Amino acid sequence: MIPRNPCLRNIKAGYLFPEIAKRRQAFAKTHPEAKIISLGVGNTTEPILPHISQGLIEGARKLGTVSGYTGYSDEGLQALRDRIAEVYYKGHFSGDEIFISDGAKCDIGRLQLLFGAGTKIALQDPSYPVYVDGSVLIGSAGPWTGTGYQGIVYLPCTAENGYFPDLSLLPEQGLIYFCSPNNPTGAVATWEQLTALVKTALEKKSLILFDGAYNEYIRDDQLPKSIFEIDGAKTCAIEINSFSKSAGFTGVRLGWTALSHRLTYADGEQVLPDWSRVSGTIFNGASNIAQAGGLAALEPEGLKEIRGLTDFYLGNAKLIRSALEALGVSCIGGDNSPYVWAHFPGQDSWDLFSKILETCWVVTTPGSGFGPAGQSFIRFSAFGHRQDVEEACQRLEKLKI
Ligand SMILES: *Cc1c(COP(=O)(O)O)cnc(C)c1O
Repeated sequence: MIPRNPCLRNIKAGYLFPEIAKRRQAFAKTHPEAKIISLGVGNTTEPILPHISQGLIEGARKLGTVSGYTGYSDEGLQALRDRIAEVYYKGHFSGDEIFISDGAKCDIGRLQLLFGAGTKIALQDPSYPVYVDGSVLIGSAGPWTGTGYQGIVYLPCTAENGYFPDLSLLPEQGLIYFCSPNNPTGAVATWEQLTALVKTALEKKSLILFDGAYNEYIRDDQLPKSIFEIDGAKTCAIEINSFSKSAGFTGVRLGWTALSHRLTYADGEQVLPDWSRVSGTIFNGASNIAQAGGLAALEPEGLKEIRGLTDFYLGNAKLIRSALEALGVSCIGGDNSPYVWAHFPGQDSWDLFSKILETCWVVTTPGSGFGPAGQSFIRFSAFGHRQDVEEACQRLEKLKI
């Protein structure tokens, strides 16, 4: 038979979340009385709010009419591209520098095709698993060495460095994944920090892939919401973003990638036409219905709903963080992000995961699943119904020794 892609062999067994699901199921089987609450996966739980929902309905209705029917939308509906440029990039970008996608994760996978195998990769440790696994799949990283993947520069983000990496570790002419507000740590990079990141990337001729999926959770006005608020970023960064965590579109699927005409490769060629070519080759555009929903989300009424929805999840995060801090657990995040990153020095993340599952019947995510520096941490997700979060917080008291 046909040989297997050797890169697949390099991927460590099991994506983190299926492994969590497996352990949860095994526990549920032996403890059928346990009412398990999940604060694990970063998946939204609340209904899409009325104005945005109406936009989706209207989008579907139009497709059933002669005058409203549309087919492939390629790089996205122009109105949506223009509106994203206006709402999120305040005139820095034109609509033709915004590419609409079916989600940020999907675009991360496709963006890796611009650089190919052998690209030097650097990323925050801990980080969102797709940056690492996508790099392994394309042959830029691997195999697993026991402490990390060969070929990846891990940038530890720890309590000691305030969860911002040592920039002297950045590679020359490499690809730097950077996520702020961060998943899983919930840390948000400051103006000064992002300015230093951009400056270093320019010096080292590296490219930043900035993931801003949680930008709508930022409440502190002093914190930057986009890498493009930083001077010089247009010539060294690409931003990926999504409606998943802001408008609750995890199941609707809509995101975008923003990059400047001025962004070039080492040889001076523009990156944007290649991105257009790659997207056009293996992607046929986002759903027209999802895009109608996205347009509604960016109308004033929709933006108010985004604010309300993210406020709700931030309220959950505050409850979780308070409950943990009352136990003496040191935490970060949850104030400008929907994740609380809890530190249990000296303890193993998977042991903690099991202990919390068995004593509190609460599913969490072991920090070590996001990278070596996540060891001894647990990520608590604020995506949940309020009643469940309140009950989970009460049960966490059982962790008190
Ligand atoms: C949830 C999430 C996304 C969003 O991915 P979609 O494919 O748009 O749903 C992107 N980046 C990070 C870090 C996330 O946690």
